[in-house]
Amino acid sequence: MNKIEKIASFTVDHDLLTEGIYVSRIDGDITTYDLRTRVPNGGDYMDNLTMHSVEHMFATYVRASSIADRVIYFGPMGCQTGFYLLVRNADNGETLTVVKDVLSRIVNHDGEMFGAVKRECGNYLNLDLACAKVECERYLAILNSKENDFLYKGEKI
Ligand SMILES: [Zn+2]
Repeated sequence: MNKIEKIASFTVDHDLLTEGIYVSRIDGDITTYDLRTRVPNGGDYMDNLTMHSVEHMFATYVRASSIADRVIYFGPMGCQTGFYLLVRNADNGETLTVVKDVLSRIVNHDGEMFGAVKRECGNYLNLDLACAKVECERYLAILNSKENDFLYKGEKI
């Protein structure tokens, strides 16, 4: 059997990782951002309702943002501590501005949860706008409270 290599995100030291925004990897013109909303192994995780609700709201707003046509993917991490955002031809400063703007749009969203209908979602009853707002407000405060250099701790430029 061939030796199975560790994938890049498993080589990041999760003991050093805290909440923030990081560049997880770059593949050609695609940047994968690690939007870390919770401290890994910190005992305080997002529940599925929260992750799913943020996913619907963030994915919709980011695909309506100034980088809409360069967004490849947005979705939650299975470990319940963050999300991945994939952007083509990304600029970190621009991405941070857009992420903050999307978060504040969600916090201020007045109206229905996006995509909360059976035809558009695999578990449409498992959605709650209030949960998305709480999580996005919390994460926005974290991003606003620190310098975001996009580097994992201990990582060299
Ligand atoms: Zn859904």
